[in-house]
Amino acid sequence: MDRQTEFVLRSMEERGIRFVRLWFTDVLGSLKSVAIAPAEVEGAIAEGVGFDGSAIEGFARVFESDMVAHPDPSTYQVLPWREGGRSTARMLCDIRLPDGSPSFADPRYVLKRALDGAGRKGFTFYIHPEIEFFLLRTLNPPTPLDEGGYFDHTTLGDGTDFRRDAITMLEQMGISVEFSHHEAAPGQHEIDLRYADALTMADNVMTFRVVIREVAVSQGIHASFMPKPFSEHPGSGMHTHMSLFEGDTNAFYDAADEYHLSKTAKQFIAGLLRHAPEITAVTNQWVNSYKRLVGGDEAPSYACWGRSNRSALIRIPQFTPGKTSSARIEYRAVDAAVNPYLAYALMLNAGLKGIEEEYQLPEETEDEVWRLTDRERQAIGIRELPRNLDQALRLMEESEVVAETLGEHVFEYFLRNKREEFAVYRRQVTPWELERHIRVM
Ligand code: GLU
Ligand code: MG
Ligand code: MG
Repeated sequence: MDRQTEFVLRSMEERGIRFVRLWFTDVLGSLKSVAIAPAEVEGAIAEGVGFDGSAIEGFARVFESDMVAHPDPSTYQVLPWREGGRSTARMLCDIRLPDGSPSFADPRYVLKRALDGAGRKGFTFYIHPEIEFFLLRTLNPPTPLDEGGYFDHTTLGDGTDFRRDAITMLEQMGISVEFSHHEAAPGQHEIDLRYADALTMADNVMTFRVVIREVAVSQGIHASFMPKPFSEHPGSGMHTHMSLFEGDTNAFYDAADEYHLSKTAKQFIAGLLRHAPEITAVTNQWVNSYKRLVGGDEAPSYACWGRSNRSALIRIPQFTPGKTSSARIEYRAVDAAVNPYLAYALMLNAGLKGIEEEYQLPEETEDEVWRLTDRERQAIGIRELPRNLDQALRLMEESEVVAETLGEHVFEYFLRNKREEFAVYRRQVTPWELERHIRVM
């Protein structure tokens, strides 16, 4: 038995764990969970736990549905909202086929494969997300919990209390929080996680959304990561800061550059910019995601970059003098309802492509790109992000980077599922149309 397994078994004993939840993620980024008894854990770590994959979104066709969940003992954590007589722990799982080979449908495997590729080039990929979400008093209709705005210090009983409880719980689960504040919209909050390698961070984001929902339930309110719940307020993004390290050295850092960015960083940005429209179907995977990317409210709609340009897709955050690890880039399209495994894999490979093929970084954009006309944007080579899920899917299906990164199964499943979502959406007659037209037409 390896040391991690020993640690898990000892901790379960000491903490009086009664249930162990095995967590994994479906292709669309929903968390799945199966509980096992403590006595089963040793066997589960050694041999996995079988389940019917055909019941999981995107996992398998019926004739190849047997799958095995292999808990990763390094992800063992006690669930802080389940302490007391029914103490519960969780581990995240890798999904394999009965013959032991990795499941082609497992998003965690998609990311691992991309990270291995980066590893062969000597790179480790680090991520720091800014996660935004709404706290709501009621869901129907959605009613924000508070009337606060950007950085407001709301009064007790509103979000401040919530954030304190949520952060305490995240820290108990080994997830470090760097920063938290009220966001621009009523009821909207942001919590930024301290940077970690991309696999740990994808696991953390999955855990984060569970913790936030649990804390909300315990306070009799609701939390939502929907990208754009209110037409009249900004949406919820998940701006993603990234860097590549070579060993202990930040490969994005160059002391001599005016932005402190290396050639590697610039080529990585160029890769992201060139492939951004193709990967948007995954970084912004819902019909609703595109209501956020409409120009304004600090969400991007054009593939350009700038140092302090908050309308740009990629921003270069302020460098902290003396702290080479702080040289990084911020990709701002990603929204709060993303599947982090797939999105990180794609952003990584889009950037690596730029390094491999030595893409040239286009000029920085200083202007607020929304204010330019289409013609002006074209003249300086700025492309638009897809305007809706349909456009995004059309770009994705032509994309080599996306097909190679996701693998055939996830690629095909994703396209099929999302085309269906758009087809259903197309048929909707909205309250907006009715209100405008029913009387006058
Ligand atoms: N809520 C904005 C978005 O949708 C981001 C605001 C900010 O700059 O933090 O991307
Ligand atoms: Mg924010
Ligand atoms: Mg940001």
